[in-house]
Amino acid sequence: MGGGDGAGPPRSRAKHGACAASSAAAQEAGAAGGSPRPAPPVPGGRSMAEQESPEFGKADFVLLDEVTMEHFMENLRLRFSRGRIYTYIGEVVVAVNPYRALPLYGPAAVERYRGRELYERPPHLYAVADAAYKAMKRRAKDTCIVISGESGAGKTEASKYIMQYIAAITNPTQRAEVERVKNVLLKSNCVLEAFGNAKTNRNDNSSRFGKYMDINFDFKGDPTGGHIHNYLLEKSRILQQQPGERNFHSFYQLLRGAPDALLASLHLRRDPGTYRYTREGTAGSVGGDDAASYKEVEDAMAVIGFTPEEIGSVYKILAAILHLGNVAFEAEGETAAVADEGLLAVLAELTATAPERLRQALLARTVAAGGGELIEKGHSTKEAAYARDACAKAIYERLFGWIVGRVNAGIAARDYDARRHGKSTVIGVLDIYGFEIFDTNSFEQFCINYCNEKLQQLFIELILQQEQAEYQREGITWQNIEYFNNELIVELVEQQHRGILALLDEACLAAGTVTDTLFLNSMDTRLGRHPHYTSRKLCPTDKTMEFGRDFRIKHYAGDVTYSVEGFLDKNKDTLFQDFKRLLYNSADPVLCAMWPDGEQSITEVTKRPLTAATLFKNSIVALVDNLASKEPYYVRCIKPNDAKSPELFDEERCRHQVAYLGLLENVRVRRAGFAYRQPYDRFLLRYKMTCEYTWPNHLMATDREAAQALLEQHGFQDDVAYGHTKVFIRTPRTLFCLEQARAQLI
Ligand code: ADP
Ligand code: MG
Repeated sequence: MGGGDGAGPPRSRAKHGACAASSAAAQEAGAAGGSPRPAPPVPGGRSMAEQESPEFGKADFVLLDEVTMEHFMENLRLRFSRGRIYTYIGEVVVAVNPYRALPLYGPAAVERYRGRELYERPPHLYAVADAAYKAMKRRAKDTCIVISGESGAGKTEASKYIMQYIAAITNPTQRAEVERVKNVLLKSNCVLEAFGNAKTNRNDNSSRFGKYMDINFDFKGDPTGGHIHNYLLEKSRILQQQPGERNFHSFYQLLRGAPDALLASLHLRRDPGTYRYTREGTAGSVGGDDAASYKEVEDAMAVIGFTPEEIGSVYKILAAILHLGNVAFEAEGETAAVADEGLLAVLAELTATAPERLRQALLARTVAAGGGELIEKGHSTKEAAYARDACAKAIYERLFGWIVGRVNAGIAARDYDARRHGKSTVIGVLDIYGFEIFDTNSFEQFCINYCNEKLQQLFIELILQQEQAEYQREGITWQNIEYFNNELIVELVEQQHRGILALLDEACLAAGTVTDTLFLNSMDTRLGRHPHYTSRKLCPTDKTMEFGRDFRIKHYAGDVTYSVEGFLDKNKDTLFQDFKRLLYNSADPVLCAMWPDGEQSITEVTKRPLTAATLFKNSIVALVDNLASKEPYYVRCIKPNDAKSPELFDEERCRHQVAYLGLLENVRVRRAGFAYRQPYDRFLLRYKMTCEYTWPNHLMATDREAAQALLEQHGFQDDVAYGHTKVFIRTPRTLFCLEQARAQLI
C-alpha cells in the first residue's frame, strides 16, 4: 500500500530547497567545504573555502577517489605539507604531529567550532570535542574520546587541546565552583607530566604512564568534577635509562629549580650527575626549562590544593630517592653493611624514620620460620642492592599514586548536584601509551602492547563490527569489509590457564627455582602452535632471536621480539615487608599515608599479592568495559618522522601506522556505509516541514514511505538507503542541507 506507483505522492524530482545536492556534488565540494554560509576567516587569514580547496586535499578520507593505500597516503602527505594536520574518516580524526606551532588553537578558533556540526568546519580536535560534548549535553549520553598512536605521535598534546576546548566552552555564567574545578583539571596536567613524563629518544616529553580522565558535568553542561585513573607507571626508569634518555622530569626540576636553602635542607647538590639515578640523564638535557617548570609545578600543586607541608614532603621524598640510589654496600663477612654512615643519617632525616630501623630494613629481611617464629635474615651485598632499588621504585610509584589521589581529591565531583538532578554525565578522555617496539623489549613493552591490542579490539568492535551488524539488522544491502581481527592475539596473552599471563603467574607462584628461561620453556611447550607466537627454539633458523632469551609475538601492529629477562622479577614486584613497615612508621604524614599495607605483620602477608601483570590486566579490562559503555569518539595520531622534523613526511613510517591503525578498513567501512541514521519517526519529526507531502502530517501508509517521499523531493535519493526501522544517509552534506532547509522555515 502506498508503495506502488500510483498510490504515493508524485515522486517529484524537482531539486528545490536551499541546497539540493547529489552525493557526487557533495563529494566534490569536500566533506567540510561547500558550506552555503559565508566562509569565516580562519587563523592565518585564510578563508575556510581556501583551506578546503583541492590544494589542501580531501578533508575526509571518505571522499577519496579510490580507497587505496596510495591515495590515502597522497592525501595525508599533501595535507601535512600544507599544515592541514587534521583529516576525518567520518567522525574519526586522523591527526599528524606537525612538530611546529600552528595557528589553529586559542579563543578565536574555539568560537568557530563552538556548537557547530562536524562537517561545517575544517577538521579539528575542537570539532570532535564539541561533538562529544553535544552528545553528552543534548542526549545525556556518557561519551569518551580515545586518543591513540605511538610514542611522540601527539596524543598528550591532543588531549590537552580537547580539555582546553571543553574548559573554554563551559560555565558561561562564571560560577566560582565550576571555575575552580576547571582550573584544577587544567593544572593537573602540569603536575602529572612533571612526575609521570620523561625525555626519551622518541619524545622529549614522553608520558610514562597511561591516563584516563573522566570529567563530570551537571545538568547545565558545566564541569563539576573529575577523576583520573593512571595505568602502569614505567617505574624501572627510576633505576635506569637508555643512553640519551632521562629519569622523570621531577628530579631535574627539583635539582635545577629549588632555591638554595631548600636544596641545602634536602642535602642535595644541584648537579644531577651527583646521583646514580639521574646521572645518565644529564647529557643533552634542558636545564633552563627544568628550573622554570619547577616554579610552574609548585604553583600548580598549590592551585590543586596541596598544602605547603605536603609540597615539602613531596620534595623530601624525591630527595630521599636520589640519596637512596647512592647508598652503597660493602661485605662484612657473609652479609652487607652500609658503606656511608652519613648518607644513612640523611636518609633517616628525609624519611622521618629511626636510623637504626632504616639500617635494618636496608640490610636484612624478616622471614617467618616454622611455628610462627620470626627471624632476621641478613642480605648479601647483591641482595641489599636489589632491595634498595626495589624500594626506590616502589616509593616513586606510590608517590605518583598519592599525587594522582591528591589531584582526584581536588576535583572530586560534588555529589550534591547528582543527588538533586540525577546522575551526572561524563566525558572520558583516554591518553594512553601507544604501541612500542624498541631494540630490546621487556615486560613493560609487553604490557603496553597488550593494552594496545585490547584497545584495537575495542575499536574494531565499536567502529567496524557494530557498523556492519547494524546494516545487516536493518536489511541494508551490504558487502562485508574484510578487516584484521586481533582476537587471537588478545587470547594468546590473556586466556585463562593457557595464555602468556597465566603461564607467567604460574612461573611466579612456583618455588624460587623457576627462572625466566624456564618460563620461556613453558611458553614454548604450551604455546608453540599458536599462530602469533614463536621463539628461537621453535624457529631455529631465525637468527634475529636469541636462543633461551627471546620470544616473539605477531602483534596487529607488527612483530615484536621480547626478551624474557626480568619478566618474573618485574611480575612478582617484590618489596620486602620490612620497607613497607619502616615507611608506614614514618613521622612524615605523606610518606606514612602511602603505605597502608605497611601495618601488616610478616605473618599476615603470607597471602600472595596479585602480580604486576595481573593487576595491569584487571585495570585494562575494567578500562575497556568502561569505554565500551560510553559513546566513543576517536583521535588517531600519526607520527610523521622519527627526527621530530616539521617538514619530513617519512613515507614508510606513516604507511606502517596507517596500516596497523586499520585506517583504510575504517574508510572502507565508512564509505560503504552511511554517516547518519535515524529512526523514521524521529527523522520525520525533525524534517517534515521541509516537504509538502509530509507537512503537517503525511498520509502515507508508513513513515518509511513518507521519509522516502521527502528525500526524493529534495533530490537525495542517490544518497540514502531505507532500512527496516531507520533511514540511512550516506554523506554529511545531505543532512546539512536538510538542516538548512529546516532552519529557513522555522
Ligand atoms: P605522545 O603523547 O603521543 O607521545 P606528545 O603529545 O607528547 O606525544 O607530542 C610530542 C611532541 O610533539 C610535543 O612535545 C610537541 O612538541 C609536538 N606536538 C604534538 N602535537 C602537536 C601539535 N598539535 N602542535 C604542535 N606540536 C605538537
Ligand atoms: Mg604522551
